[in-house]
Amino acid sequence: MIIVHTIDALFEATKSLKGTIGFVPTMGALHEGHLTLIRQARSENDTVIVSIFVNPTQFLEGEDLDAYPRKKEADSKICELAGVDILFMPTIDMMYEADELAISAPSIRGFILEGTKRAGHFDGMLQVVMKLLNLIAYNKPSSFRAYFGKKDAQQLALIEQMVRNYFINVEIIPCDIVRDRDGLALSSRNIYLSMEERKKALSLSRSLKSATTMILKKELNVERIKKEMLLSLSEVEVEYVALVNRQFKSIEQVEIGNTIILVAGYVGTTRLIDNLWV
Ligand code: AMP
Repeated sequence: MIIVHTIDALFEATKSLKGTIGFVPTMGALHEGHLTLIRQARSENDTVIVSIFVNPTQFLEGEDLDAYPRKKEADSKICELAGVDILFMPTIDMMYEADELAISAPSIRGFILEGTKRAGHFDGMLQVVMKLLNLIAYNKPSSFRAYFGKKDAQQLALIEQMVRNYFINVEIIPCDIVRDRDGLALSSRNIYLSMEERKKALSLSRSLKSATTMILKKELNVERIKKEMLLSLSEVEVEYVALVNRQFKSIEQVEIGNTIILVAGYVGTTRLIDNLWV
């Protein structure tokens, strides 16, 4: 595995690559969720590139940018063991200049759910993903796939839209959510949770499970499902519970095969999100 810290070194490393590139962008503190994306990229491509960059522009004032877990040594080892070819770890100065041209999230899909709760987050996320995709595609690979988790469902939908709207030559591959054995969706932020909070956090996935049970019993009414979900979320400071279609439009009835159920909330001071695609 080659570790590159500069853009020039990245271009040098990708200059004479042959075949397909599978790219997994991350903010590090790698866990089994990231690893699953990396493994899929490994099995489907000739070269696997992982980036680790804690992108400041997607953190809002007062969020955990400084406290966000950074584990370069352990992450490098994990990538090496997973068969990554190139690990790209740029600095903020390399990625940004002052007074940058901006990208804005779309005015409807970008400003619901996570977009209302974290205004500006998606602009910063799209900005860095655009930069990273352009950097990896710089040497014109014959085929270029980028892997993203369904865990961040709205992020994934917006990235797909950006690729479509800006005609970026990359195939976006959505990857299933990876959970701990007890059901908690894996997240780099889970390390903030105390034992007690972790137990409370399980109610997020439990609420999604209760929604599935209702749907399996043919209850498709969105309001009734949300009401039931909220009952299992009493120990979470809920920000939203939502059922939308795969285009993120609101729905009144669950459409099997075209619905995403999303939940977000605080357990203590830790903000967690989870979702289920039905
Ligand atoms: P992050 O480092 O949190 O920015 O995540 C990097 C990528 O890993 C994103 O595409 C996430 O959606 C994905 N990811 C994070 N956690 C999970 C998970 N539990 N299951 C699947 N994908 C995940």
